[in-house]
Amino acid sequence: MARRKYVVGNWKMNGLADSIGEAQAIFAAARDHAAVDVALCPPFTLIGAMAAAVPGAAVGGQDCHSATSGAFTGSVAAPMLADAGATLVIVGHSERREGCGESDADVQAKAIAALGAGLSVILCVGEPREVRESGDAIAYVLAQVAGSLPGDFDAARLAIAYEPIWAIGTGLVPTVGDVAAMHGAIRAKLTEQAGATAAGDMRILYGGSVNGENAAELLDAGDVDGALVGGASLTAAKFLPIVAAA
Ligand code: PEP
Repeated sequence: MARRKYVVGNWKMNGLADSIGEAQAIFAAARDHAAVDVALCPPFTLIGAMAAAVPGAAVGGQDCHSATSGAFTGSVAAPMLADAGATLVIVGHSERREGCGESDADVQAKAIAALGAGLSVILCVGEPREVRESGDAIAYVLAQVAGSLPGDFDAARLAIAYEPIWAIGTGLVPTVGDVAAMHGAIRAKLTEQAGATAAGDMRILYGGSVNGENAAELLDAGDVDGALVGGASLTAAKFLPIVAAA
């Protein structure tokens, strides 16, 4: 199965009700790029409104709990995301792995819960700066993949996002060669864990300071099937050039 390009915006903790117009502009213009799958992951508070404002659009959460319900104050379960109109969810973002102490096992449990709720999953991995500098980035990321990947999954609904932590929101990006090497290593690991057919179907996104200027080069690198975009996904003016580059 040929892998379609996938460009996903992560709005993080940004956006109020008046941001829905920006999402409408993004999804309307994205229709001109029929070969690219486009999704936006706004804060929980905007999922319902965004999904209602743009019927059929791929709207997602940025995290979910691994339980389906219960005494977890402040958390949101995967079936709740689906109920609100989400079709996908990001799990294991480094801001949650680092800021909320999420382990590979936690991320795996969240991915399993999300798939069980019928959502697609974007499972994030990525190394901190000191690991990149020590030369151990590939081994570090492959261990994250091994520890976070569900044992059994529908490859069409699970994408990996490689996001080097030192590149997120910093304006720094790895070389195209380093991105291709990492994505190739991830694809090989997926083949080992899930088999060649599943690994061949799965999309591996690059994330970390992607913008309209660097997107074409990054998206052209070997085994790069799209981008997970933070800061540049907040406005149509910044996000659409990335979609166009895909
Ligand atoms: C992200 O947080 O997923 C991300 C890639 O952020 P940015 O594009 O701002 O580096």
